Amino acid sequence: MISNIHYMKDVKSIRDIDITGKRVLVRVDFNVPMDSHQTITDDRRIRSALQTINYCIDHNACSITLVSHLGRPKGEYEERFSLRHIQKRLERLLHKRVEFIEDFESSKDEISACSLERVFLLENIRFYPGEKKNDPELSRKLASICDVYVNDAFGTSHRKHASTYGITEFVDEKVAGFLMMKEIEAFSKALESPVRPITLVVGGAKISSKITLLESVMKKIDKLIIGGAMSNTFLKALGYNMQASLYEQSYVETAENVLQEAKKNNVKVYLPVDVVITDSVERPIDVKVVPAQDVLEGFSAVDIGPATVKLFHEAIELSNTIIWNGPMGIYEIDRFSKGTFKLASAIAGCYAYTIVGGGDTADAADKAGESENFSFISTGGGASLELLEGKILPGFEKLDRKQGA
Ligand code: ADP
Ligand code: MG
Repeated sequence: MISNIHYMKDVKSIRDIDITGKRVLVRVDFNVPMDSHQTITDDRRIRSALQTINYCIDHNACSITLVSHLGRPKGEYEERFSLRHIQKRLERLLHKRVEFIEDFESSKDEISACSLERVFLLENIRFYPGEKKNDPELSRKLASICDVYVNDAFGTSHRKHASTYGITEFVDEKVAGFLMMKEIEAFSKALESPVRPITLVVGGAKISSKITLLESVMKKIDKLIIGGAMSNTFLKALGYNMQASLYEQSYVETAENVLQEAKKNNVKVYLPVDVVITDSVERPIDVKVVPAQDVLEGFSAVDIGPATVKLFHEAIELSNTIIWNGPMGIYEIDRFSKGTFKLASAIAGCYAYTIVGGGDTADAADKAGESENFSFISTGGGASLELLEGKILPGFEKLDRKQGA
């Protein structure tokens, strides 16, 4: 059986073709977090795209056109989502002038003029209603301004949009960029040829968003560590009264099934033994640590406790491969961030291959000051999840293949 990762690894990369003198369109993911003044607070995604852009410059592409989305506009112009906010940072990181293109259709001749190595940045592609609808008309128009299409937007590769999917119908040469290949390589190392034991650490808000992941990896992993609100549903399945904690009643049975499946597959499951509880998430007055089965009436479990951190730490320490997806508590709030940050440090400190997926998890790893200490942090939240679930990401699906298979 060919795995999804094997299939995606077999797509052609930009290295496999000749781009000299060609107009290259690169779909990048510049969807970076910004504060209320539109200042970029984390430019990791821009930095991650530099290798592909520099490669195009170094290999004499005739022009390089960068296409991205930013935020969630509703198919029309909105100043706060303009990619103009990205232009300066990109120029600084690239050490090169970047020309901003407001409307690529009316600038078509300029982009096609082929004065060597010019870099164009198009306005937010989601200002066009056709982008999310995967409209063939928009795909065709985008295709008409390039000879080669490079998809390097890993964070958006689980979407079937005009600039990530539809465009491949209309371009002769379509390949993956360096970031896409790097992401696949990293997950391949963790899933296809892992050094055992392999541990999956999951957390986050909901079981429902990660249930497919839990079901699909059960045969691949040795240990499963569950924290965050997700573990509340599991603790509920064990018969504990979780009081006002966030959990999913309709998934209690699912949690029971997961535990049974784990047993069947010889996967050792670790759940919180103690939790941090609070009388209120917004205005906490009473915050304490209690055994997981003793959540007080009216209180919510919002983080894992110190004994749990120790237990989880011991479990991961003996692992050789660790995949982490999902914070252990409401890490955005200082008082409830300890469990997540301590676990981040514990994973980062392991002599193991460590891989982080999930938007909030990557953010938590960064806030814990540990982002340099993991083997790999994925730039994709939803995309990394779908990859772990065993899916072929649409962003890879229609690219040229090395084997032509
Ligand atoms: P990721 O983006 O890494 O996949 P998720 O989106 O699944 O992660 O989950 C992250 C969210 O889960 C965070 O906003 C965090 O506050 C929330 N969360 C984690 N633990 C709890 C909890 N015990 N109670 C309420 N929310 C929680
Ligand atoms: Mg999230």
